[in-house]
Amino acid sequence: TAGAFTVGSSAAAAIAPSGIRAVADLAWRTPGTLQLQMGEPSHPTPPHVVDALAQAAREGNTRYGPTPGVPAFREAVAAKVVRVNGLDVSPDDVTVCAGGVEGLGATYRALLDAGDEILVPDPGWPNLGTLAVVCGAVPVGYPLLAGDHPGPDLDALDRLVTPRTQALVVNTPSNPTGGGFSEETLAAVLGWAARHGLWVVADECYDEMWLDEPQPCAALVAQRLREAEQPAPEVVSVFSLSKTHAMTGFRLGYVVTPPALTPVVRRVQETTLSCVSTPTQWAGAAALGGPQDHVEEMRAAYRSRRDRCVEQLRDQSVLTLATRPAGAFYLWLSYAGPEPSTDLARHLVTEHQVALAPGRAFGPAGEGHLRISLASADDVLTEGLRRVVAALGDRA
Ligand code: PLP
Repeated sequence: TAGAFTVGSSAAAAIAPSGIRAVADLAWRTPGTLQLQMGEPSHPTPPHVVDALAQAAREGNTRYGPTPGVPAFREAVAAKVVRVNGLDVSPDDVTVCAGGVEGLGATYRALLDAGDEILVPDPGWPNLGTLAVVCGAVPVGYPLLAGDHPGPDLDALDRLVTPRTQALVVNTPSNPTGGGFSEETLAAVLGWAARHGLWVVADECYDEMWLDEPQPCAALVAQRLREAEQPAPEVVSVFSLSKTHAMTGFRLGYVVTPPALTPVVRRVQETTLSCVSTPTQWAGAAALGGPQDHVEEMRAAYRSRRDRCVEQLRDQSVLTLATRPAGAFYLWLSYAGPEPSTDLARHLVTEHQVALAPGRAFGPAGEGHLRISLASADDVLTEGLRRVVAALGDRA
C-alpha cells in the first residue's frame, strides 16, 4: 500500500510469484552454482534463423503487420502443422502470438469470463494457472498420475468439474514431469471433456520434443475421435518456437483454433498485442521452413543426457524418478522426508552450489519433488546430480 491506497488491482495481487525464479535469483547471486533449474535449450539459435531476422530487418520488414500474423509465416506454420502434427489446417486457422505464454493468455481471454473455472494440471507449468488469475478466472488443479503411464486422473476430474468449468488444459509432454500421455490416455481425457461440454486448451510447447516414440497431439486425437463418431471436444492448440528451435528470446508462437474461435482470439490480440514483431516472424518462417537438423540434434542431446542421468540415479536411494521421462527436457524426482521443496532447493544452492526447481513451484502436488532440466551441459548435469545425491545422502 502507498498511504491509504492499495496499489494495483486485486487480480494482479493474486498472482503468485514464481518459485522457480526465486531459486534462479539466488543461484545467480551464489558464485559457482551449477544451474539445473533452467527451462531453456542449451543449444544456440540456428544461424539461418538469426540471418533471416537480420535480413528481414534490412529489407524493411520493420513495420506493423496484420494482427493474425505475416502471411508468409502463417503459411509456413500451416505447412508445419500438416507435416509434423498431421492436422489438416490452413493459414486461416493460425494466429501468431508472442510466445506460447501470450498465445495461452489470448486463448484464456477468448474463453473465460471472471469467475469461470479452468482445470489445469497439478503439477503443471505455473503460468497455466496464473494466466487464468489475471482474467479474474479460477484455476482448479487436477492431479496427474505419475509412473509409467502418466495422464490426468479422471476420477479426480469428476470431483473437480462444476457448472462454472469452461475448459481443461493438457500439456504433453509435460513441464515439469517430462511424462507424455499415450494416444489412449489423451482419447480418454478428451472424451471426458466432450461429455462435460468443455473446451480443451492444448499447450503444445514441447510437441516436437518427444524423446522416444512421438505421440499424437490433442487436436489430432480429437479429430480421430470425431472420425470414429465418438464424443470429441473443440481443441485450441498453442504452439511455440521457443524450445523446438532454441528461440526463447524471440517470443514467437502460434495458436491453431477451430473456425468459430479464430475471430475471437484475433479480436483479443488486436487490442492487447496489435501484432507480433515482424522481423521475428520472418525468422520463424526460416525456422519452420528451413533445415530441421537442429531439432533432432537437441532431441538426441536430451535423450543421451536423460539416459545418463537415469543410469546415475540407479546406485542411490535418496531420489526416485517419479514419472517416466518421455519428452520435454525434465526429470521429475521425488525425495523422502518432510522438508518443503522450496527450503530444500534454497539449501542446495547456498550449501552445495546446485540449483534445481522446487516441486512446489508447480502446484501443491509438486511438493516433495525437485525438477532437473536436461537442457544443461553434460558435465554440469553429471556433477550437479552428484552434488544433489551426496547432499541428500548426508542428511538421510
Ligand atoms: N508451456 C510450457 C509447458 C512451458 O514450459 C513454457 C515455457 O517454459 C511455455 C508454455 C511458454 O514458453 P514460451 O512463452 O517461451 O513459448
